[in-house]
Amino acid sequence: MPDTLTDKQKHRLALARLVAEPSKDSTKVGAILSTPEGANILTGYNGPPMGVVDSLDRFERPHKYLFASHAEQNIIAFAARNGIRTSGCTLTVTHFPCSSCARSIIQAGIVCVVVGDGKTSMPDEEFEAAGVMFAEAGIKVVNQWFETHELQWKKLSDELTICVNAFYYWIRTDCHNQFSLFINEKHHETSNSIDKLKEIAQEHYNAGLAQG
Ligand SMILES: [Zn+2]
Repeated sequence: MPDTLTDKQKHRLALARLVAEPSKDSTKVGAILSTPEGANILTGYNGPPMGVVDSLDRFERPHKYLFASHAEQNIIAFAARNGIRTSGCTLTVTHFPCSSCARSIIQAGIVCVVVGDGKTSMPDEEFEAAGVMFAEAGIKVVNQWFETHELQWKKLSDELTICVNAFYYWIRTDCHNQFSLFINEKHHETSNSIDKLKEIAQEHYNAGLAQG
């Protein structure tokens, strides 16, 4: 079971989102470094290193990969520059760290990463590798993404239950054509998942017809 965020962790995530606002990137990522005692001591967001021109055109692809550092890397480098101890600290970040940031986080001795539910366009392998490395290195990860998506999944499950019940109802009452109508009418703002369910349900129904 994923950890549920404490009020303090939620507050830090809210703070991290605020910290991310000055970023000129379309994906605004913010991070907060907190001491083992719980004091929030540093903030960082994704952008170029200090002294490097922070212009909008540098956030167009592929420039942004050349000129901008991720929030996690900026905060760790800033700590090094100022002689601030990162070992034993917690890093709160609005998005799940990429593999490169994960490596820096581990090497910096950060022991806990609290992750918000932000989405990036980076490939899934990045986050899978980061997750594997965090697990292997014994970094505690508290992930709001799970919490948010668990709620969404619960909502989706309820929707699916309604659809499946409707499906069987229409089969029992031999009004199967009504099923599609029901889905379209009741779920006009359907997600892809609901569309997928409809597809699966239709396949099951066709298979049932074929068996007589
Ligand atoms: Zn990163």
